[in-house]
Amino acid sequence: MSGQILIISGPSGSGKSTLLSRLISEFDNIYFSISSTTREPRDGEQNGVNYHFINVDEFQKGIDEGKFLEWANVHKNYYGTSLEPVEKALKDGKIVIFDIDVQGYHLAMKKYSHIITSVFVTTKDRHELKKRLTKRGSDDAQTIENRLFNAATEIAYISEYDYLIINDDLDSSYERLKSIFISLSSKTQSFNLNDVIESWSEC
Ligand code: ADP
Ligand code: 5GP
Repeated sequence: MSGQILIISGPSGSGKSTLLSRLISEFDNIYFSISSTTREPRDGEQNGVNYHFINVDEFQKGIDEGKFLEWANVHKNYYGTSLEPVEKALKDGKIVIFDIDVQGYHLAMKKYSHIITSVFVTTKDRHELKKRLTKRGSDDAQTIENRLFNAATEIAYISEYDYLIINDDLDSSYERLKSIFISLSSKTQSFNLNDVIESWSEC
């Protein structure tokens, strides 16, 4: 078996982390790619669990040394996906999950398009997104405005994704994500097809 990549993008506050934490707690064969970021941790976020929280100099060093599979400046902070652990998890046949923005999705597609399945998660409208960002309570008013502005830009790319989840009711959104996830292990690219064909040619 060879690994697959599941990319989840969508406006900040649409519910990506909430959906993914359910998925990660239910399934074993997942490697969740922990990104590095220069943004400040939110209350409850842990270094090495939600993100690797690093400073700008450390991030720049990572770029210079080619440590990132992709990186982007999102909402005035840097975010990047580490290359090495992802390559290892793919070799081990895991389903690797990235929670990354549209720029990161475009970059990842350049190298891994043959094994990527992508999902865009959004609220039904801007009003609901603002409500959730406000309720989450981790951002000041200016940051929330910034995130809402970015959301409008990201929405324009929905058509480039394989699946769309409008995260209204959490339980049904989770069921949708789960069924997408389960289908990945049946993709023909997940199998070593030579082995499958060879076992057919044996008498
Ligand atoms: P993201 O990871 O996309 O930035 P979060 O998972 O942090 O978003 O969710 C943002 C906020 O919205 C959190 O307070 C979360 O509990 C809440 N939330 C997530 N999904 C739903 C939903 N379907 N209905 C109502 N609130 C939700
Ligand atoms: P947040 O600050 O809300 O955790 O994330 C802000 C945005 O950055 C989200 O759209 C999230 O998907 C994106 N993001 C998180 N990690 C990465 C990463 O490693 N690369 C890229 N390109 N985007 C990321």
